[in-house]
Amino acid sequence: MKNFSNYTDFDTKEGLHFESKAVHGALGTEPLTGAVSMPIFQSATFRHPGLGQSTGYAYSRLDNPTRQELERTMAILEGGIRGFAFSSGQAANMAVFSLLDPGDHIILSDDIYGGTFRIVGDVFGKYGITHTYVDMSDLDAVRAAIRPETKMLFVETPTNPLMKVADISAIASIAREINALTVVDNTFLTPYFQKPLTLGADIVTHSSTKYLGGHNDTISGIVVVRDNQAIADKIQVHIKSHGSQLAPFDSWLILRGIKTLPVRMDRHNENAKKVAAWLRSHPKVKKVYYVGFEDHRDYDVTMRQTTGFGGMISFTVDCFETAKNILQNVDMIMFAESLGGTETLITYPTTQTHEDTPKAVKEALGITDSFLRMSVGIENADDIIADLKRALQ
Ligand SMILES: *Cc1c(COP(=O)(O)O)cnc(C)c1O
Repeated sequence: MKNFSNYTDFDTKEGLHFESKAVHGALGTEPLTGAVSMPIFQSATFRHPGLGQSTGYAYSRLDNPTRQELERTMAILEGGIRGFAFSSGQAANMAVFSLLDPGDHIILSDDIYGGTFRIVGDVFGKYGITHTYVDMSDLDAVRAAIRPETKMLFVETPTNPLMKVADISAIASIAREINALTVVDNTFLTPYFQKPLTLGADIVTHSSTKYLGGHNDTISGIVVVRDNQAIADKIQVHIKSHGSQLAPFDSWLILRGIKTLPVRMDRHNENAKKVAAWLRSHPKVKKVYYVGFEDHRDYDVTMRQTTGFGGMISFTVDCFETAKNILQNVDMIMFAESLGGTETLITYPTTQTHEDTPKAVKEALGITDSFLRMSVGIENADDIIADLKRALQ
C-alpha cells in the first residue's frame, strides 16, 4: 500500500518541456488516492505514527503537502534546488533581504516596485543595512555603485514601470567578482519567458499574485534558490520563524494558475504587442514604454535573455486631463492596481504603486501625472484597443 512517504517521491520531470512541467508539477497527482488535482491539505498539524516516527509532516507552518507541491513545482520551473511559497511577494522579498547582516550594502534597480523600496528603506535601514539605487541597464553605473560591503545586487527586469531591461548574466558576473548575491524579481516575465537562475542569478523572487496565479484572486510570493543549500536553509528558518508561509488553499490556487501559465503568457504577449503598436500610433500618446519594440534601447539584451516580452506596457499621454479621462472612461478595462491577471488593468503609478517614491525621483524617472501603466489581459485584443480608443476620445 502507498503511504505518506510517497510525498517525498517526486521527480523533476527532466526531459519534458516547460509547458508539460507546468501542468504536471512535482508529484502532480496525490499518491494515496490518485487525485489528479493536488488536494488542499487543510490541516494545521499531522499525526505521528509513533515515538520518533513521522509521516514527513509535523506542522503546517513548517511543511504542508499542498504548499510543498507548489514550492517544488516552482523549483522545477525556475531551475533551482529549492522553492518557498510565502503569503505575499512582499514576504518573499523580506525573506531575501533578511539574508543580509548589519553593515551590508545592497544595489537595486532604480525604478523598482514601490513595496521593495519601502522594505529596504523603512524596514532594513534601521538595522544598518544600506542601499543604492542605480539604473541597472547601465553596467558602468552598477560597477560604480559597488562598495567593499556590497553583498547583494537586486534586479527587477523589465523594471516597473519604465520597462528598462538589465542584462542578468552581466550583472551576475559582476556580483560573483565581489562575492555578492544576485537576486532577480522575476514577477513580470515568469520562468516561461525568462530564467534568471540559468543566466547566473543566485535567487529568484516573485509576486505570484501576478502572472503565476494569474487570476487576480489571491496574494502570494515565491523564492527559488539556485544551488546554495546554506541559503535555502536560512530561508527555511526565516519562514519558520516569521510564519510568512502561504496557506494551503492559496497554494492550491497558485498551483492551478501555473498549469495554464504558458498559454496565458503567450496570449498576454500577443495582445500586448498589438496594444503597444496601436498606442504608439495614437496622436494623444506621447511615449510608449514596451520592451518588445525593436527600437527599445535594450532590445538586444531582451532578445538574448528572454523568449517573450510579457504583457506590461506603460505610456505617457499629452496631459493630465487625458490621463484622467482614460482612467474614468475605460469600460471593460479596469482602473485597478496590480498586474498579471486575465483581466486588463490600468494603473496610475504616481499615486498608486509609486505613492511613496519621492516626487523629485518620480519626475526624474518620467513617472509624471500623465503617465499610465497597463497590464494587458487575455481578452480579445480588439476589444482592449476599442476600449482605449473610446476612452481616449
Ligand atoms: C506586486 C509586486 C511585488 C509585491 O508582491 P505582493 O504579492 O503584492 O506582496 C513585488 N515585486 C513586483 C515586481 C511586484 O509587481
